[in-house]
Amino acid sequence: MRGYPKTPDQIHEIEDAFADGMSLRAVVREFHISRQTARIIRDGRHPLQNVDPIYERCPGCGGKVTLPCVLCRVQKVMCIERAIRVNLHDRRQQVDTKRWR
Ligand SMILES: [Zn+2]
Repeated sequence: MRGYPKTPDQIHEIEDAFADGMSLRAVVREFHISRQTARIIRDGRHPLQNVDPIYERCPGCGGKVTLPCVLCRVQKVMCIERAIRVNLHDRRQQVDTKRWR
């Protein structure tokens, strides 16, 4: 697309500029890009900001996902929570049985 910054490096510099708190107008002046382009980059909607997300086979759930797999992370957290609950339950039972000895 004509008028768009050409390289991902340049996009990255512009992103950094916004991250540093540079205003839209300052970025336009600094990088010689259009207001529209600057706004698109600020909003993360520039085509070069979304270059091919890498889909990989998740070893956890077997789904084609961008790693790390969000689904597996959620499941792992739920699994840990369940383990903690079971652990507490076991300990409580141990305390109970000790009373009988
Ligand atoms: Zn997964």
